[in-house]
Amino acid sequence: MNAPFRRSIFLLFDGARWDVMQQMVDEGQLPNIRQHLCPTGRVPQAVSAFPTVSGPAHLPFMTGCFPGTAGIPGIYWFDRRAFGASATGLGGYRTYLGLFKVEKMNGDVTPGIPTLADVWPDTAFVFGWFTRGSPYKALLTRWAKVPSFVRGYLTKDWLRCDDDAESAMVRAVESGASNIFVVVPSPDEQGHRFGPTSQEARRSYLKFDGTIGRLFGRLARRGEAESTLVVVCSDHGQSDTHTHFALDAAVERRFGRTLVYKRFATPIRDVRAVVLPSGNGMANVHFRGESWAAPRPDLAGQPYQDLIAELLGEPAVDVLAWRRTDGTIEVRGRRGAALLRRTGPASLDYQVLDGDPFGYDALPRSMTFEECLAATFATPYPDAPVGLLTDMEHPRSGDLIVTALPGFDLRNWWEYQEPHGTHGGLHQDHARVPLLTNGPLGDAPMRTVDVYPTMAAWCGRTVPAGVEGVAR
Ligand SMILES: [Zn+2]
Repeated sequence: MNAPFRRSIFLLFDGARWDVMQQMVDEGQLPNIRQHLCPTGRVPQAVSAFPTVSGPAHLPFMTGCFPGTAGIPGIYWFDRRAFGASATGLGGYRTYLGLFKVEKMNGDVTPGIPTLADVWPDTAFVFGWFTRGSPYKALLTRWAKVPSFVRGYLTKDWLRCDDDAESAMVRAVESGASNIFVVVPSPDEQGHRFGPTSQEARRSYLKFDGTIGRLFGRLARRGEAESTLVVVCSDHGQSDTHTHFALDAAVERRFGRTLVYKRFATPIRDVRAVVLPSGNGMANVHFRGESWAAPRPDLAGQPYQDLIAELLGEPAVDVLAWRRTDGTIEVRGRRGAALLRRTGPASLDYQVLDGDPFGYDALPRSMTFEECLAATFATPYPDAPVGLLTDMEHPRSGDLIVTALPGFDLRNWWEYQEPHGTHGGLHQDHARVPLLTNGPLGDAPMRTVDVYPTMAAWCGRTVPAGVEGVAR
C-alpha cells in the first residue's frame, strides 16, 4: 500500500442488495461507481452482522463490534429484569424508530465500546445513529433530520432524503473533517415500499451513482482524490415479500397477552410474552416464565417446545434458535438441528445433530470465527453461526430467535405502508452486502465488523482495543 489515506468517507448505502449492485454495474448503469470504486467490474461482497436491520447492523461500521456485543440485539429490544422491576410496565423496552434514536443509542450501547471518535476525533456524521464521543455539532443533520424524514413519511419520496444526505456530506468535505460517516437512506425505504429488486428501488442506485460522481469531482478539485479513502457498504440486503405471517398471534394463542412493540396499540401490563420483530424478517421473542424478574425460562419445557414445533411447520419460518440451560444455543430448522457454543474470544463449536439447519456441507466441529466465515461465505447462509452466537449472548436478546424465509415476513398488523421488502434474518438475501472502495481491498472474505478496523489501518491510525473485526 502507498502512503496512508489522509481522509476517509464512509457511505452506508442502507439496505442495498449486492446482486442488484452487481447487475447494474454489469449493465453499465453505474458508470461513476464503476470508474472510481469498482474498476474490475466485480462488486466485492461482505457479510453483515445479525440481526440484519438498520440500527443494530449500523453499529459494526461505527464500533468494529457485533450488535450483540454492543448491547443492541434488535431495532427494538426488551430487558426482562428492567421490565419486571417497572411498576408501570413502561420500562424495559426500547425502539430506535422515531425521535431521539441517536440520544437513546448513545446511552444504550455497551459502555467502553470503541467509537469513531476513538480513531477520528473530528468525525462528521450525516444521519448517523451512534455518535458517542463526538461533540453534538458533529452530527451535521441534527436540524435537518426530522424535517427530512417527516417529509419522507408524508410524501414517501425517500430519494429526497438522499439529497439532504449529499448536501450535508458536501459541507463535511468542505469542512476538512478527517472522517465523514454518511447514511444514505433510500434503498431501504424504496425496497420496503416497492420491493428490493424493483425499478423504483433501482432509482436509488442510479441516484447514488450521481452522488459518487459528484463526490469524486469535488475531491479532485480539492486535490484530494488520491488521498481520500472512500468506502461504500450496506447494513443488510432485503428479500421480496409476498406473504405476511402473524408471529405474535401464534405466540399469543399459546401464552396469552403478548406485547408487540411494533404494533400501534399493544398491552404493556400483565404481559405473558413479547414479540419484537427487526426488519420483519427476524424476531426476538421473550417469555414471562415464572415472572419477568426471574431468569429466562427453560425452553425445553412443553409449552415452548409445542410452539417451536408449530413454528417449524409454518411455511414462513426459516430457522429458530434458543438457549439450553447450560448456555449452549440450539439451532433448529426444517433441514435439521445443530448446537452452537463459544469456545474462546473468536472461536466456536458447531455440532450438527440431525442434518444441518443451514444446509451446510460438513463443517469442522471446532472453528475460529475466521474459519467459519471462510467455510460459509459462499453459501446461502453466510456466517450464520457467528451471527447467531454473537447476537444471542446479550441479555436483551430474545429467549427464542425466529427468522423468516425469503418471501415471507413475521408481521401482519398495520404499518404505514404495506411492506414489500423484508430483512433482519440470516439468509444471504438479507446478509450479503456490497463493499466498494478505492482502498487496497484483498480477496479475503469480510464481515461488516471488519470495515472499521480496516479503514483505520488504511488511514495509518491505531485500531482501538476491543474491536472484534479484523483489519484486512
Ligand atoms: Zn438498513
